[in-house]
Amino acid sequence: MNKSASVVIVGGGIVGTAIAYYLTQKGMKDVVVLEKSYISSGATGRCAGGIRQQWSESSNVRLAMRSVRHFENFKKDLGADIEYIQGGYLLLAFDDEEEALFGKNVAMQRGEGLDVSILRKHEIQYRFPYILLDDVKLASFCPTDGHANPHLANFAYARAARENGARIYTRTRALGIDVTNGRIAGVETDRGHIQTGVVVNASGGFSHEVGHMAGVDIPTESFRHQIMVTEPVEHILDPMIISFSRNFYIRQTFSGNIMMGQGDEDDKPSFNHDPSWRFLTEMARKMPQLFPFLKNIRVLRHWAGLYNMSPDAQPIIDKAEKVSDYYCAVGFSGHGFMLAPAVGEGLADWIIHGEPQEVDLSNLGLDRFTGEVVRERNVV
Ligand SMILES: Cc1cc2nc3c(=O)[nH]c(=O)nc-3n(C[C@H](O)[C@H](O)[C@H](O)COP(=O)(O)OP(=O)(O)OC[C@H]3O[C@@H](n4cnc5c(N)ncnc54)[C@H](O)[C@@H]3O)c2cc1C
Repeated sequence: MNKSASVVIVGGGIVGTAIAYYLTQKGMKDVVVLEKSYISSGATGRCAGGIRQQWSESSNVRLAMRSVRHFENFKKDLGADIEYIQGGYLLLAFDDEEEALFGKNVAMQRGEGLDVSILRKHEIQYRFPYILLDDVKLASFCPTDGHANPHLANFAYARAARENGARIYTRTRALGIDVTNGRIAGVETDRGHIQTGVVVNASGGFSHEVGHMAGVDIPTESFRHQIMVTEPVEHILDPMIISFSRNFYIRQTFSGNIMMGQGDEDDKPSFNHDPSWRFLTEMARKMPQLFPFLKNIRVLRHWAGLYNMSPDAQPIIDKAEKVSDYYCAVGFSGHGFMLAPAVGEGLADWIIHGEPQEVDLSNLGLDRFTGEVVRERNVV
């Protein structure tokens, strides 16, 4: 194992490997990634792979739009097919409050340059006849949203970073971060010590703990989220469909499986990865009411992963104040897969050039939680 590195990234999920890819692509040498398990073992490999630009906070819209440009060029840039499909994202509104919120959000998103529109009930019926719309008021739809296979994307970033010279150590856990006089001196791992002056915390659900290793207080907590897939069926769903008030999302994979999930509303912060019967029974009851085609489809698999939540449900991308050259890219609050390309690009520039350059990370700092917290609303 390397005895020293220019940068040590803790976490080999989509975020850590995207940062490693962009750092090495931009010419940085001696980049090391530590992954305590295997690539894609964390939230990334457990996520739905949704890629959406329809957010209630403009900083998320901008980051997601920039990421979409990277996803559109992924095959060309990284030479990997990640089953990326731009079938759109349909957001369903069920009550007056959501109707008003969608109107406001769509106006803001269009102001950011996003191709997004409100669909009235008859338009939804015409375009997506497989949804039972009894309780639906309206929807918003963005045709350039979509989804991809998160494993393939994570593997592709890891492979490309390795080809560029990064060293990725799997089964290697960061145990501690040495800080001397406010500067990073190295990282202690269960396979030895690595001398370095720069650390990036990209440890997903463990961000608070990896912050603690350097004495940096990161206000994140992890919550279990569950998801399931059915047996493969004929192609039916182009878009990914989501509802915030009904707490679900659904999409069809490349190979035909229907994938769906919901948040565990009353779960406490934890590292619990156990799938629950309650999730299965709630989903089995709820989903066919809106999507009757699900009635006779068998469930194949069901699993859980961690949402790393920040107080305002937006990521925390920052450089710590008290410990120099300690960066974090954490707290993605259920949308880190889709934001990883832009965050990887911006953070790599920040480390190399001292600022994020073209990617706007200005509203995502650690110091934003002192006053009133404005929460991202479009989260399941
Ligand atoms: C059920 C579910 C559905 C989701 N759906 C979506 C979606 O549709 N779209 C979307 O954009 N996002 C979605 N997300 C969120 C998304 O998965 C995450 O935001 C994203 O994967 C975060 O990536 P990451 O690299 O930060 O974290 P991870 O993928 O969790 O990677 C962090 C890695 O750090 C490693 N690690 C932790 N501590 C240490 C240590 N001390 N030493 C070494 N390694 C360490 C872990 O093993 C892990 O592999 C979903 C999440 C879940 C759980």
